[in-house]
Amino acid sequence: MKLKRFLSIPILGVFLLLGFVYYITIFIFIEDWIGLQNSSGSLNALIFTFLTAFSIFSFSVCVLTDPGQVPSSYAPDVEQSGISDEETKRKICDRCATYKPPRAHHCRVCRRCILRMDHHCLWVNNCVGYWNYKAFFMLIFYATIGSIYSTIIVITCAFQKDWDFNGHIPLKVFYVTCGVMMSALSLTLGTLFGWHIYLIIHNMTTIEYYEGIRSAWMAKKSGQNYRHPFDLNAYKNITLVLGPNMLKWWCPTAVSHLKDGLTFPVIRDNS
Ligand SMILES: [Zn+2]
Ligand SMILES: [Zn+2]
Repeated sequence: MKLKRFLSIPILGVFLLLGFVYYITIFIFIEDWIGLQNSSGSLNALIFTFLTAFSIFSFSVCVLTDPGQVPSSYAPDVEQSGISDEETKRKICDRCATYKPPRAHHCRVCRRCILRMDHHCLWVNNCVGYWNYKAFFMLIFYATIGSIYSTIIVITCAFQKDWDFNGHIPLKVFYVTCGVMMSALSLTLGTLFGWHIYLIIHNMTTIEYYEGIRSAWMAKKSGQNYRHPFDLNAYKNITLVLGPNMLKWWCPTAVSHLKDGLTFPVIRDNS
C-alpha cells in the first residue's frame, strides 16, 4: 500500500512544520498585522492557503508516485546511436543483475534501479526519479514561495508593532524566533530551488552533476572538453521536465510529456 510511505518520522516532521508555519502565519501574524476580518487580511490568508495546499499536493504526489522502475524486459538497443561512453548502453547493475538504462542508477535504500535517478530523498521517503521529479521541483517551488511570503509577513508584522511596552518580553522572543526560523527556512528552500533550476536548465540530475565533475577532470587531463551529453538547450531542457505547455507547468501531475524514461535525446540527436 503506497499510503504506508507516509509513515515515516521525517514525513511527520514535514507535516508538523507545515502545520506550524501555516498556523502562525495566518492566525498569529496576519491576524496581528492587518486582521483577518477585512478584505486585505482575507486575501493574504487565501494566497497563503493556496501556496500551502499546492505544497501539500506536490509533496503527496512526490511521496506516492513510483519514481521509475526498470522494466524486467529492458535490454539496450545495440543499434541505437548517440549514447556516449559515459552512458554505456550495456551497463549492467551488479546488484539487480539486469541491464541499466542510461541515466538510471541503483538506489541502496530502495534496493532497485531507478530511472533518471536524481537522489533518494529522506523527506519524501522516496527516490526522486523520472516520474516524480516534476512533483519534487514543484514542491520546492511552492514551498520556497510560501516560505518567503511567510517571512515577509512575520518581519513586516514585527516592525510595525509598538515594542515600547516593556511587559512583552516573551512575545518579543517569540517574534524574533519566528523571524529567524522563517528566514533560515526561506534561505534553505531558496538555495535548494536555485540548485534545481540550475540542474533543469542544464538537463542534469544531482548524480550527473557530480559525475560530470569527474568526467570534466578526466577530459581536461586528455586535452578535451567535456559537455554533458543531455544538455540540449535551456528552453528544451526545461520543457523536458516541466512539459511543453507552459500553462501546465504549475501542476505536478501534468506529466503526459514523459515517455518511458529508458532513452533520452542527446546532443548529437539534436539537429
Ligand atoms: Zn540496480
Ligand atoms: Zn531510493
